[in-house]
Amino acid sequence: MAAARTPRAKRPDEMTRFRAWLTANGAEVLAPTNPYEVVRFRGSQGVSIIYRSDTKPISRMTGQAAEALATFRRGEAMRFVPATGKTAPAKIEPIVRALLERDGPTCFYCDAPFSETLPPTREHLLSRTHSGPDHIANQALACQPCNLKAGHLSLVEKIRLRDRLRAERSAS
Ligand SMILES: [Zn+2]
Repeated sequence: MAAARTPRAKRPDEMTRFRAWLTANGAEVLAPTNPYEVVRFRGSQGVSIIYRSDTKPISRMTGQAAEALATFRRGEAMRFVPATGKTAPAKIEPIVRALLERDGPTCFYCDAPFSETLPPTREHLLSRTHSGPDHIANQALACQPCNLKAGHLSLVEKIRLRDRLRAERSAS
């Protein structure tokens, strides 16, 4: 008997939370290159990947993936130092960490995954010039280009921007 598909829960799924955890711990989450890659990231030892198969949600893990997932599941931190380049990843503000946990590591507007080259920036949905509060409920993470585009748009205009950018992204 086929199990009924439950509607998507409001809480992000485990892999979404795992990606946010990777970003928060200094790894660079990369875009998957095929549908069997669940998570692809660059940690301290180059690229690691979690694969799924048609029958298993996780079928194979490479590099640091198994260690990272186990550490994440224990609720502990892991320090990913980039294998190349001497600059340490910028320190992540607690509010950014909380927003990554809440929303996952992608831009609120265009849905692009955050990375070292596309870091998350804080976006006030109701801008401060429109008396928007500094509370986390009024904030989301956006990539820098989208944050600039959103600028001082009204909330309604921002929702339209989000719809347009996401439609463009899924069409491309
Ligand atoms: Zn964006």
